[in-house]
Amino acid sequence: MKAIVLNGPNDFSLQEIEDPVPTPEDVEIKVRMTGICGTDIHLLRGKNPFANYPLIPGHEYMGEILSAPEKSELNKGDRVTVFPAEGCGKCEACKTGRLPHCPEFKFIGVRLPGGCFAEKVVAHHKRVFPLPKQMADEVGAMVEPTAVAVHANRRADLGKEMKVLVIGGGTIGLLIAQVARVYGASKVIVSEPLDERRALARQMDFELICNPQEEDLVTFAKRSIGMADVVFDVVGTEKTLIEAGEILRPNGHLMLIALPHIENLGIPYRPAFAKELKAIGSRTYFMDDFPEAIQLLNTRQVDVKPLISKILPLDRFTEGVELLEKEPEKYMKILIIPTSSS
Ligand SMILES: [Zn+2]
Ligand SMILES: [Zn+2]
Repeated sequence: MKAIVLNGPNDFSLQEIEDPVPTPEDVEIKVRMTGICGTDIHLLRGKNPFANYPLIPGHEYMGEILSAPEKSELNKGDRVTVFPAEGCGKCEACKTGRLPHCPEFKFIGVRLPGGCFAEKVVAHHKRVFPLPKQMADEVGAMVEPTAVAVHANRRADLGKEMKVLVIGGGTIGLLIAQVARVYGASKVIVSEPLDERRALARQMDFELICNPQEEDLVTFAKRSIGMADVVFDVVGTEKTLIEAGEILRPNGHLMLIALPHIENLGIPYRPAFAKELKAIGSRTYFMDDFPEAIQLLNTRQVDVKPLISKILPLDRFTEGVELLEKEPEKYMKILIIPTSSS
């Protein structure tokens, strides 16, 4: 099969390799559509702290079942998406689907090799989730990032009428903002410096949109919502954390969503102490976030279509990566069809 093989930082290419071999527990899947995400780009460029080369990258995808174990309820031809991480399978966290809490938690396409920038993948049947028949392939490929947003919102323990600030209007930020609205947030601010991304937020009917390069975010938030009950920091810099600390109400929730890409990034101690803030990490998702993400997409309570900028065949993967790097204002989510070529 054809696959993108990554041997080390910046060392990746399209190669012809052996098909993966399913174990008796595995489903064999033909990948129909897969997304390039920020995590992949960090990984390709040697900036992902969890990377373990060599590997086939990729973790956001949907596909069609080629074969499934009889004991599963899955069948050949079913369209599915996959929970792209593994744990030890034995600990309490694994048994209850809270995989990021397993000491052996490993992400496929990051620390484990079999990612989805490939024509075929195999996955344990318990990690495979059927998609509704009417769901478009490109929407199915967005279940994984939507599950990140579901998880973040569930961790935030959002209540009705809550006021929410989302710092960072990329794919994950805009999905978090949409899920927050479904879960009852009455006011949602999206803070994003890129014009085109703010336009997307507007297209999704968000009204409180801040350009933090033109207006001080703290001033904007105080004027438009007062204090926030929840801040989702999808950027993760010293500046955004300080702003979050200022904007949160006493006992507010500071949600740490961004992958740690700065050494020793600390939580602002003074406001955390003075306002008794709760800092809550949100790392990927639990198993039960996937059916919820599928349901939110299927009922169109969350709309991913505006986030999809381009669809490319596998042999234009590098072009897709470079477009995302060089023109982040124009390209948000680029999807790849592994079985087609240009
Ligand atoms: Zn991702
Ligand atoms: Zn475990």
